[in-house]
Amino acid sequence: MSTDKDCLFCKIIRNEIPSTRVYEDDDLLVFKDIHPSAPVHLLLIPKKHIARLSEAQMEDQRVLGKMMLVASQVARENGSVDGFRTIINDGRVGRQDVFHLHMHVLGGPEALGRMIARDE
Ligand code: AMP
Ligand code: ZN
Repeated sequence: MSTDKDCLFCKIIRNEIPSTRVYEDDDLLVFKDIHPSAPVHLLLIPKKHIARLSEAQMEDQRVLGKMMLVASQVARENGSVDGFRTIINDGRVGRQDVFHLHMHVLGGPEALGRMIARDE
């Protein structure tokens, strides 16, 4: 499994930085965003260090597909009972701050409106 010694989210995977984990398997980790933008705000990451979506390779397709499936599971299990929103920011134009691929999973009754407010 490729990791990056200086990457914030790799440090979270290695437990060098604390996080509130809500799901983990051999491929993926899901933890709570430290600055939630919605009542449910999770970050879903591959354990393999992939810096950004646009750097993912065909060999990553199984894990990328699994992210889609686990997103709905963790959203539901964490209280987003009536749908959820996913966001993947990529690069400078996509306003990506942490360069380890991550999917925001946002839910709860006000998720959409509150994320739009943050984007403005
Ligand atoms: P992005 O702008 O898409 O790169 O999102 C990065 C996200 O990581 C932001 O929503 C931050 O609040 C979140 N974040 C940064 N540091 C931590 C941390 N130590 N634990 C949990 N979430 C974090
Ligand atoms: Zn990383």
